Amino acid sequence: MSEENSRASDFIRDIISNDLQEGKRTSIITRFPPEPNGYLHIGHAKSICLNFGIAREFNGVCHIRMDDTNPVKEDEEYVDSIQQDIRWLLTGWAEDRIGLKKVGETPQPEMVDGKEDFHAKVCEEKGVALEPFYASDYFEALYHFALKLIKAGKAYVCDLSPEEVDQMRGAPDKPGQESPYRNRSIEENLDLFIRMKNGEFPDGSRTLRAKVDMSSPNVWMRDPLIYRIRHASHHHTGDKWCIYPLYDFAHCISDYIEGITHSICTLEFVVHRAIYDWFLEALDLPRQLPHQYEFARLNLTYTVMSKRKLLALVQQGKVSGWDDPRMPTIAGMRRRGYPASSLRLFCEKIGVAKRENVIDVSLLEFCVREQLNKTALRVMGVLRPLKVVIDNYPEGKTEELEAINNPEDLSAGTRKLLFGREIYIEQDDFREVPPPKYYRLVPGKEVRLRYAYIIKCESVVKDVDGNVIEVHCTYDPDSKAGGPTAGRKVKGTIHWVSVQHAVKHEVRLYDRLFNVEDPADESDGTDWMSHLNPNSLEVLSESYIEPSVVGAAPGTVFQFERMGYFALDSAKGQQGEPVFNRTVTLRDSWAKAQKKNS
Ligand code: ATP
Ligand code: MG
Repeated sequence: MSEENSRASDFIRDIISNDLQEGKRTSIITRFPPEPNGYLHIGHAKSICLNFGIAREFNGVCHIRMDDTNPVKEDEEYVDSIQQDIRWLLTGWAEDRIGLKKVGETPQPEMVDGKEDFHAKVCEEKGVALEPFYASDYFEALYHFALKLIKAGKAYVCDLSPEEVDQMRGAPDKPGQESPYRNRSIEENLDLFIRMKNGEFPDGSRTLRAKVDMSSPNVWMRDPLIYRIRHASHHHTGDKWCIYPLYDFAHCISDYIEGITHSICTLEFVVHRAIYDWFLEALDLPRQLPHQYEFARLNLTYTVMSKRKLLALVQQGKVSGWDDPRMPTIAGMRRRGYPASSLRLFCEKIGVAKRENVIDVSLLEFCVREQLNKTALRVMGVLRPLKVVIDNYPEGKTEELEAINNPEDLSAGTRKLLFGREIYIEQDDFREVPPPKYYRLVPGKEVRLRYAYIIKCESVVKDVDGNVIEVHCTYDPDSKAGGPTAGRKVKGTIHWVSVQHAVKHEVRLYDRLFNVEDPADESDGTDWMSHLNPNSLEVLSESYIEPSVVGAAPGTVFQFERMGYFALDSAKGQQGEPVFNRTVTLRDSWAKAQKKNS
């Protein structure tokens, strides 16, 4: 199944189809609500593909909503990276499905069916500046709705400390205890809440709580917090507020304000669904209510995915940043050369279900190869060079040979390769004493140079330690394509670059960031960071690539023939050279190595 011609089917899409067929909904609006407290990772990509995929298939829109209700951990850098990553992931697929609002527009109270309401709308005017939605744009509305709950006798100001609240909440098998402040009068609650908002009380001294049911078997229904006091500056609203709403209150109302129809989240929110519905019903709202649906989050082998852990890797310098190509972040994968289409293909393959499982990262790598094989231009690059001198080739001569850019896509054309008397080959492609079944260059034997001639190893030059530093060969001048002996059979073909023409690059080889499948599992008492793979990055400072890569845009991915896929980085290497990041090898060598070791 491919993304062009398919409509994936899963339980959420079935629900939506039904809602449309039965007329319960006439249009579909989903949302993707990241908290701007870190970069997006591949798990978020699953949620983005689901929410935007639905908008795309059902002719709806999907809102990007910054879930920015906790000022302490959030930052503008994250807001920017989140938008960049989502747009990149949607390019050529669903970017026209992003619902955006006018810059700076926050919903104002209006009367609908005799009830006060707030409605944030997607802007459809052309030529106006647009931006994503922000939960913090609804602080005024949320405050208003909190007052409404108090007036309805459904919320109260509680003076218990956070610890006391926790303790008195009980556990699933142990009923909660009511707060001594639960039965304050509406007047007293209004007075105290307004004073909370006006900054009269210190952090942690009071909260606003919903008056639900302290004996409910669902602990989330035991008078959850609605507001807490936090004298902290917010990246979007500055110092305007010193009370901030909590997730359960803010999320359902934000969904409502934006007219979200299907609010899709991960399974850990199943237990929150009752309180989601309770708030919306308690507020007696004029428009149709959103509904929450839950699916299993993505877990991937050999990595960690919680933003807290990813932040720790960045802060402790274990990686070079959020976009380090070893990170499971969207920014890291982009820098590594993973095409957006390969992430989407991966999300399509893993599907959407209700049961948690762990996906093998080699499936992701399979999807990356699958896409790059179709699009990446082939070039020759020698990662660990060994010099070869062709003694019977005329000195000073340069020849142009013809090479195919992509055998999977002949419309990508051909290019000229420059050949000369001195070339580099891969150190691995020469053995003085070959192991069995080694069909590359060995003393006295022949090998074919890709797109060029058959050469034969005549002698070697060694350094004082006995290492081969130069190989001397002769060539068969009739053996190039079209020549009389072109069809002569030799067992191996190897890649090469011309010493005179190749361009020096730094090449960075990446391996799994962690040594174990589930580094986050600390049940045996080991710290997750102790599983970091010390060899996850190898830097090759003297690699030579054919000159056709010069001038490519950063981010371009090439297939280095026989070696893998490599993406041009925008950064410069240790000696100022351009840098290639290995995106992925041509085959799954990891799985093979694992089998050998076990
Ligand atoms: P983390 O636990 O990594 O910090 P989070 O769930 O707190 O992630 P949010 O920014 O709140 O991160 O997530 C935004 C949306 O992405 C939410 O709807 C969440 O359910 C979804 N999401 C987060 N992680 C995953 C995952 N691993 N698989 C699928 N969806 C995910
Ligand atoms: Mg979250």
